[in-house]
Amino acid sequence: MALKHETQTDILLYINGEFTSASSGTTIKNMNPFTNEQINEVAEGQSEDINKAVAAAREAFDHGPWKTMKLTKRMAYIYRIADLIDEEVEKISYLESLDTGLPISQTRKMVSRASENFRFYARMVESRLIGDAYQVDDEFINYTINAPVGVAGLITPWNAPFMLETWKVAPALATGNTVVLKPAELSPLSANLLAEIIHKADLPKGVFNVVHGYGETAGDALVKHPDVQLISFTGETKTGSTIIKNSADTLKSCSMELGGKSPIIVFDDADFERALDACVWGIYSFNGERCTANSRLFVQEGIKDEFIAALKKRVANIKIGDPLDVATEVGPLIDKGHFTKVKGYLDIAKEEGTEVITADIPAEIAKGNFVAPTLILNAKNHMRVAQEEIFGPVLTVMTFKDEEEAIKLANDIKYGLAGYVWTNDIKRGHRVAHKVEAGMLWVNAQNVRDLRTPFGGSKSSGIGREGGHYGFEFYTEQKIIHVSITDHHIQQFGK
Ligand code: NAD
Repeated sequence: MALKHETQTDILLYINGEFTSASSGTTIKNMNPFTNEQINEVAEGQSEDINKAVAAAREAFDHGPWKTMKLTKRMAYIYRIADLIDEEVEKISYLESLDTGLPISQTRKMVSRASENFRFYARMVESRLIGDAYQVDDEFINYTINAPVGVAGLITPWNAPFMLETWKVAPALATGNTVVLKPAELSPLSANLLAEIIHKADLPKGVFNVVHGYGETAGDALVKHPDVQLISFTGETKTGSTIIKNSADTLKSCSMELGGKSPIIVFDDADFERALDACVWGIYSFNGERCTANSRLFVQEGIKDEFIAALKKRVANIKIGDPLDVATEVGPLIDKGHFTKVKGYLDIAKEEGTEVITADIPAEIAKGNFVAPTLILNAKNHMRVAQEEIFGPVLTVMTFKDEEEAIKLANDIKYGLAGYVWTNDIKRGHRVAHKVEAGMLWVNAQNVRDLRTPFGGSKSSGIGREGGHYGFEFYTEQKIIHVSITDHHIQQFGK
């Protein structure tokens, strides 16, 4: 049964503690991916609005109380945001599913962890504002401190909006920065709720700002703004590289969480059923719109027939439907444009000579952007369907003979975000995990993450790491302070 909640009517920008229309007065139509009907209108922020938001954030950073207030007081705000998120989990999950098409059983789990991002970083800041001290003979004592960087520009995608936004907002605020968030234009609802929550938490004006709008206008203005010190970006690889270029003139520090095409390697000796569960979940959960999805399966030749037969059976049984129905396992894709792109890959797969196993979409849900869970069989690693990020419920299946070939195939790609290895030979599990070129590897496990661990990719999948103390370090500037404790010798030019 589908759940019901009020939807928001008009989404405004949030600048300097107030909800406001865009300067231009223009709006973006926000569409429901399940019905392709309009949900509401969203204020379309552009460079003028970014300028206002950055000015507010700058003023709050330079002259407001945020970065200098007592730590206990600042962290009380952060814990308050976490508590308010907990109170709204049901509403956030509903809005997230309505807006993105992600099944509600999955958004609920994801959103219920979002408040932990705030608590985690509050605890980290409380415990990590420590530095090193250096004794330099009897002349100096030098020591390091961690200072906030300034105005943080945060740019997020639509595929797990609330989780990814809080993942960036929490460390940025807890470490004393001020923030301008530019959420994805296709998923504004939960970002607006985050603004409402932070407004309710009563943070000083200008500390947190949200400017909705398109990437090429609002996002671009944020990236180029001289008063923004850092950009934390999650999105496509191509966009990441544009942002790095555009931020070069103002020399920003950038964290880049980009695309992926991650391998799952299943050896003959793997725990068959667990590997199957993990493989199916890893590609079809979150509608396959998941950066760490195991979209390339390499299965060892000894079990390939059995494994593929089991996959076919499971994939045919996946329940697609209304994202607000708790029984739904795969919902509609984010929008018509993305739907067309994913469908296009099924045509490419056929042209490339593979076997495409997919299903028709039932007539009663045909208005939605549905692509049925799909298997691409008999693929070769050089094909586009094996090399390019499809970002939908599509698994490209390949086989391998031995460990050496598995590693070679897994690494023969531009991406390096995640990798999964299934084997009951634990030495081999470690060995393969060491050799697969990716930022994050799981051995005999699905994608389960502890907030303390680094998150991020190598190669074209990213630069830098989020999470844990890695996030703390990105959002703080380490300063070294040199203090003379004697009258050390100073050269006397011109005396
Ligand atoms: P996208 O790159 O199209 O957009 C992401 C954000 O960037 C949006 O807010 C967009 O408006 C903005 N943007 C676009 N062009 C811009 C520009 N020129 N300047 C500034 N901002 C700009 O990505 P998407 O389609 O929203 O998200 C899907 C992608 O995100 C996939 O490739 C996925 O793998 C990736 N992703 C990566 C991770 C990770 O942690 N590595 C996590 C989630 C998603």
